[in-house]
Amino acid sequence: MLETVVIAWLLLFLGDFLSTFVYHVPEHIFGSLHLTTHHSCKKNFRHYAILTLNFPVLLDGILGALPYLLVAVLLWNLSHWGVISGLVLGQIHVWWRHTTSLGWNTPHPIIVVCQLLRITTPEQHWLHHRKTNLGFGDIFTFFDKPARIWMRWLRMLKFYGRSLMSNKAHINNL
Ligand SMILES: [Zn+2]
Ligand SMILES: [Zn+2]
Repeated sequence: MLETVVIAWLLLFLGDFLSTFVYHVPEHIFGSLHLTTHHSCKKNFRHYAILTLNFPVLLDGILGALPYLLVAVLLWNLSHWGVISGLVLGQIHVWWRHTTSLGWNTPHPIIVVCQLLRITTPEQHWLHHRKTNLGFGDIFTFFDKPARIWMRWLRMLKFYGRSLMSNKAHINNL
């Protein structure tokens, strides 16, 4: 039982870590798919919860879920039930964290428990929908701060990369 809980937690932790730092934040800086699908205003619950057959929405969902599946493969031999529970809980959390778009409010006792366990509530995730610089960490709030630092670094990298390219182009044109 304990093994199942530990492996399920580890899957969600490592999956959220990889998804946030390898896909979500870089996609915010260098891409456009996630921004146009997940941060577009006034979409309904089915859209945000990836319960739609819209290709860009599904692709964003699949790319975000890929790190969790990779971790699932790595942890599979340690505990089958841990991996299955982790994936099921992760999927339920995707649906739950988008219930704000249904007008739901999380009851206060659940918010308190989530704050203690550092779990992202729908309200916390909604912050990210409205302000793309805040509320990182799909499942765990402790990824928020490091993700914002990572975002600043990547933004700098993009900035210097662009200036380098434009300087090169300028020299080539001389
Ligand atoms: Zn979302
Ligand atoms: Zn985002």
